[in-house]
Amino acid sequence: MRKKTSANKKPMSPKQKKILGILLAIAFTGFMTCVIIGVNILGNMISIANGEKIIDLEFYKENQDQTTIIYAKNEEDKFVELTKLHGEENRVWVDMEDMSEWMPKAFVAIEDSRFYKHKGVDWFSSTFGIIRSIVADGDIRGGSTITMQLIKNLTGEKGVTLNRKFNEILYALNMEKYYEKDELLEAYLNTIYLSHNCYGVQTAAETYFGKEVSELNLAECASIAVITQTPADYDPLWRPEANKKRQEWCLSKMLEEKMITQEQYDEAIAYELIFTNDERYIAEHEESVEKATDNEIQSYYVDYVITSVIRDLKEQGYSNYEANKMIYSGGLRIYSAVDTRVQNILEDVYVHRTNFPTQRVSDVKDMYQSAMTIMDYNGRIVALVGGAGEKTENRSNNRAVSAVRQPGSSIKPLTIYAPAIDKNIITWSSKIKNYGITWKGSRWPTNYGGDPGDPNSYITAQYAVAISYNTVPAQLLMMMGFDLSYDYLTEKFHITTYNDAQDSVSPSALATGGSTGGTTTLQMAAAFATFGNGGKYYEPYCYYEVKNSAGETILQNNNPEGEQVISPETSYVMNQMLQTVYYGSMGTARGYSVKGFTTFGKTGTTTANNDRWCVGGTPYYISAVWFGYDYNKSISASGNPAGLIFQTVMNRVHKNLADKSFEKYTNKVAKKTYCMETGLLASDKCPKVASGWYKTSNIPSTCVTCNGAVVESTTDVTGEGTTGVTQTPVTPESTTQAPPETTTQAPPAPEVNDTPVA
Ligand SMILES: [Zn+2]
Repeated sequence: MRKKTSANKKPMSPKQKKILGILLAIAFTGFMTCVIIGVNILGNMISIANGEKIIDLEFYKENQDQTTIIYAKNEEDKFVELTKLHGEENRVWVDMEDMSEWMPKAFVAIEDSRFYKHKGVDWFSSTFGIIRSIVADGDIRGGSTITMQLIKNLTGEKGVTLNRKFNEILYALNMEKYYEKDELLEAYLNTIYLSHNCYGVQTAAETYFGKEVSELNLAECASIAVITQTPADYDPLWRPEANKKRQEWCLSKMLEEKMITQEQYDEAIAYELIFTNDERYIAEHEESVEKATDNEIQSYYVDYVITSVIRDLKEQGYSNYEANKMIYSGGLRIYSAVDTRVQNILEDVYVHRTNFPTQRVSDVKDMYQSAMTIMDYNGRIVALVGGAGEKTENRSNNRAVSAVRQPGSSIKPLTIYAPAIDKNIITWSSKIKNYGITWKGSRWPTNYGGDPGDPNSYITAQYAVAISYNTVPAQLLMMMGFDLSYDYLTEKFHITTYNDAQDSVSPSALATGGSTGGTTTLQMAAAFATFGNGGKYYEPYCYYEVKNSAGETILQNNNPEGEQVISPETSYVMNQMLQTVYYGSMGTARGYSVKGFTTFGKTGTTTANNDRWCVGGTPYYISAVWFGYDYNKSISASGNPAGLIFQTVMNRVHKNLADKSFEKYTNKVAKKTYCMETGLLASDKCPKVASGWYKTSNIPSTCVTCNGAVVESTTDVTGEGTTGVTQTPVTPESTTQAPPETTTQAPPAPEVNDTPVA
C-alpha cells in the first residue's frame, strides 16, 4: 500500500502561485466587504435597538383586537355581561396583578426560562436557532424569547424568514430599552394564541375552565401555558390527554427552575383538570346572560347599541373606520340601557308569528312585518325589536329605528292637538267644525268611510281625538298655521324624518299623517313620552356609558336632561285626552288598553291600509308599534294588529308590576264640568254636561245660552252635542274591539307633492 507523505508534495509552480495570489486577493476583498457590510448592519442594529420606541404597547393595549363587552343590568340592577363583540380575534386584556401568580411563571418556565436575565435576545439560543434553520432550511422557532414572540404577536407577521428573525431581534432590543420585564410579559400573556380562537390568557381561562384568569390554580395555569407551542395538539377540549401530559412536563420545568416546591408540584400533578366540555364541569359563573359564540345572532337592541356607539364616536370626530375598529377590536366596555326582562318578553312575542294575524304565503318577504320600541319617560330605551319572526343576521334591517313609515292619524297629537292646547287655541271641549277645509278648490278631507261631515256640526276636540276624525284636525291646522304645526313636530317633538320641503306645506302630512317622509317607532315613543312626563323631551338613549380599554369614560348618557317642550299643563291635558282613545266608547284603541294600568295613546292607519300604528303609554312605559309590509301593500287583517301586539306585549310586561298612576307634575290643571252644547263651562241651566281637564290659565267662560235644567251628567268620556247623543262612560276592562278608524287621505285635487306615498 502506498503511503501519502510530505515527500510526495511538489513545490508550486509560478503559475500556481499567481492563481493563489488572485484567490487570496478575492478572499481578502470579500472579507473586507463583509466587514464593511457587517459594521453597517451593526450600526443599523445599534441605531434601531437604541432608537425611538418602535412599538407602543399602550396603543396595542387599547386598540389591538380586543374584545368589546356589552353589559346589561340584571333584575337586581347590577350590570352583567350581555354579549361580546370581536373582530378576528377573541381577546380580553387583563393586567398582570389580576392574573393567577402561576400564569406568568408557567409561561416563563417553558418558553423563555432566562427571560428575567437576558436583554430581549437570548444570544446563545438565537444563534443556535438561526444556524439550525439555515442548515435545515426550515422553521426558525428556537431561540425566540418571550419579547420576540410578543413582537411577532403584535406585528402579526406570520412568515418565518431569516430577515424577520433579524428584525425581531432588533425590535426586541428596542422594546427592552423602553419597557419593564413585567410590562412585556403582561403584553405577551394578553396576545398569545391559545387555540379555540382565544387570544390571551383571560379568554383561554374562560373557554377551558369557565373561570377568570385570577381564579386558576397552578395545575390549570400549566395546562394553559402548554397550549401555545402547538395549539391544535395541546388544545384541552380536543386533546385532554395530550394536554395533561404536556402540563406535567411544564410542571417539571417549573420545579427544575425552582419556581415551585416539590409539594406544590405533587399537588398539581395529582389535581384533576376539569375542562368546560367535561360532563363533570359545573359553571361557576352563571351571571352571564347570554354566552357569546362565534355565530351568535345579536338582538335588535344590541344591533342598535352598536349603531349608536359608532354614530356617537363619529360625532366626537372619529372616522367611520376608526369607530368600527374601536367597537369590534378596541376592547370597549359598553353599559347598555336594555331591560333584559322587557326585551325578552318583546322578543318572545315577535319571534312567534302566531302572535300575528295568520297568513298563507310562500315567500317570507310577503309576510307581515312589525316593529316596536318601549321606553321609560326619561329617554331610556328599555327594549326594541325591529322585525317579526326569527332574526337570522346581525345588524340587519332594524325597522324599530330605521323603517320610516307614514304615521297616519298617530301624528295628530304631535302636529295638531298638543300645539293647539299649548298655544291656547283650543281646550278639551272646544267645539270645532266637523267638515273639511277648502284646499286647492276642493273640500278636504273626509272622515272614516268617506263621510264628509256636516258644515253645521261641531264636535269637541276630545271627541275628535278619541275617534280620530280627519275634518277637525284639518280645521285646527288652518287655525294654527302650517309653520306652528311643523315647528312642534320637528323642533319640540324631534321627528326628524318628515320631508321638510314637501310635508311642511302639506295639510295631508300635518293633519292626517299622509306624509312624503314619515317616522319610526323610536321617534314616536320618544315624542309621546312628553304626554306622560310633564312635557319634557328626552333624547332616546340605548347605553349609559362607554369606557375604553383603559377604563376611561369616552361616551356617557347618565342622568340625561330633558327639554321642556310643552308645558306640564298641556302634557297633563293631553294625557287625559289620549286616555279616551283607549277608554272612550268609540275610542279607536278601545279594547287594547294594558290590563290593570291606565293607558293613553293614539292609533294610526294610512292610505289603503298599508300601515297600522299603535302608540301607547302606561305610568311605567311608553311604546310605539308599527305593523305592515316592508313594501306598500294593504293589510287585510281585521282590527288593529298593531294594537293587538301592543296589548300582548304590554300585558306581559306589566304583569307583576306594582300599582302606579300618572303624575300631574303641576297644580295648574283642573277637572271641570262643561256644557256639551256649547263646550263652555256648564251652568245649572245646561241640559247636557260632561267633564274634562283644563289648564287653569285657559278655562272657558260659563255657558249663558242654555235655558233648561240639567238632565244628565257624565264623566270624562263625552259625545258631541249637536247629535244629542251622550256617550256612556266605559270601563277599561271592556274587550270590545275598536272600530276601524279613519284612514289618511290626500286632498281631493292634490298636487304631486301632496300625494301620500302609495
Ligand atoms: Zn250650556
